[in-house]
Amino acid sequence: MPFLRACLQSGLFLLLAGCCLMRSSSPILVWNCSRDGLAPVLLRDLDAAMADYAEATGDEAVVVTSGRRTLRRQAELMADFSQDQLVGLYGRHGMPCYVQSIGEFRQREGRDPNADEVYEILRTRESGYISDHLYGGAVDIASSSVQNIAALRTCLQEHGFRVLDERDQGIACLHASHTGVPRLIARD
Ligand SMILES: [Zn+2]
Repeated sequence: MPFLRACLQSGLFLLLAGCCLMRSSSPILVWNCSRDGLAPVLLRDLDAAMADYAEATGDEAVVVTSGRRTLRRQAELMADFSQDQLVGLYGRHGMPCYVQSIGEFRQREGRDPNADEVYEILRTRESGYISDHLYGGAVDIASSSVQNIAALRTCLQEHGFRVLDERDQGIACLHASHTGVPRLIARD
């Protein structure tokens, strides 16, 4: 029954192709980090925004440098920031207690805290919110990889993202958080 076999084979092929398509992301996106733990709605809308952006600009590659982070990874990143950068990045809506604690550590010890010490400050903080990355609600995009930042911002905003240009704090990235992902407080 060659016909039946051909049908079964093509059916299998379509099934496999379908699975691959579901798992792939926009061809313009280059993932320099894992997609694990990112909210499905964020991934879906990021792909849609990137398709619009690619069509509007002809840009062919946009690099994602950071997705979901553990609190430990968050501490490692924050240990590398100056106090001014921390205030700029995390103090937009008033000074969080953990940024204040890191500043107090610097004054008391006369040096920068290391990643373990920042982790301890974050883990034991009183107020909760730190970053949308901690619950899979944000990605960072390397600004150097983007040909037209204004167009990318517009496309992301049209698909439910809030975009912050962290070059204002001397960090070469665009932070895009999805407004439809419920905010969670991470303690580890
Ligand atoms: Zn970010």
